[in-house]
Amino acid sequence: MIVTMQPAATLKEITGVIRVLESFGASPSISRDCGCTLITAATSKVPIDAQQVRSAGGVRDVHEDAHPFKRVSRDYHPEDSVIDARAARFGGGGFTVIAGPCAVESEEQIHAVAAHVAAHGAKGLRGGAFKPRTSPYAFQGMGVPGLRFLRDAARANNLAAVSEVMSIDQVADCVEHLDVLQVGARNMQNFDLLKEVGRTDKPVLLKRGPSSKIEELLLAAEYIVDAGNPRVVLCERGIRTYETATRNTLDIAAVPVVKQLSHLPIIIDPSHAAGKREYVHSLTLAALAVGADGVMVEVHPTPAKALSDGRQSLHYAEFEKLMDDVGRLSDFRATVNV
Ligand code: PEP
Ligand code: MN
Repeated sequence: MIVTMQPAATLKEITGVIRVLESFGASPSISRDCGCTLITAATSKVPIDAQQVRSAGGVRDVHEDAHPFKRVSRDYHPEDSVIDARAARFGGGGFTVIAGPCAVESEEQIHAVAAHVAAHGAKGLRGGAFKPRTSPYAFQGMGVPGLRFLRDAARANNLAAVSEVMSIDQVADCVEHLDVLQVGARNMQNFDLLKEVGRTDKPVLLKRGPSSKIEELLLAAEYIVDAGNPRVVLCERGIRTYETATRNTLDIAAVPVVKQLSHLPIIIDPSHAAGKREYVHSLTLAALAVGADGVMVEVHPTPAKALSDGRQSLHYAEFEKLMDDVGRLSDFRATVNV
């Protein structure tokens, strides 16, 4: 619920409204968005009687929740959130590219990729150290040494280090080494992990689960913000449908839907959506055209030898061409309203 106070409301009246909201178990917070006092009751456990709030002194308007999420809702925060992680900025009209291999495979590999993607305009370096693999026999990642290699390669090239944290016991190491904590698609509804990353001060890249609705993605983000961390970047990475021509089905419409419902930035991962490198270029340009705040793409020095996701990883020359086209389309996007 959002309560808008009259411009001349006194401190006593504001306190009175807070008391009413608290009597329903809510923990109200006060803001001054839009030049007037707004009181938001974001964590009420029982329905708040709007009539009772309306009749309190000094109240101009009471807006009842249209959505089950509150802290991530645009209703509560009309301005776009802008989230900075070193050189990478998400939100605010730009188009930020995170690039790198599916997994950190060696110190040499990650340094080589970092230098290449930075030279062509990427602002974030991806690379899994803890890998969620469908098969227990597949490469599971290098673990903490992989995080160190990623961090050093990112620092050397002024990139934000982005990597997945799969479980609560990995959070401390990830906080120490990373600039962005990625919560993977399979963990989107691991509520204990969401709360734990919500207790850190690192930006969180939250990927949409393959079978999750947009509302469930936003509620997962709500867990992180409610735990105290407002720096969440959403990521659409394709959902599971009956279509098998691509690895997942990229739900490009998720971008305008999320932008209408939420103030959080949203990026697209065309690599895991497509599953094949030949589709990554056009899906990236689609992400730019539809108004996404960026993309995360997989790039590998020798995709044929990659330990994971080689089929969807771009060769260096393909990444270079992609960044050229992103630059040109970005100039055009700046002239239209998406
Ligand atoms: C990844 O980006 O490394 C990854 C495993 O992607 P997703 O969680 O979207 O499958
Ligand atoms: Mn991958």
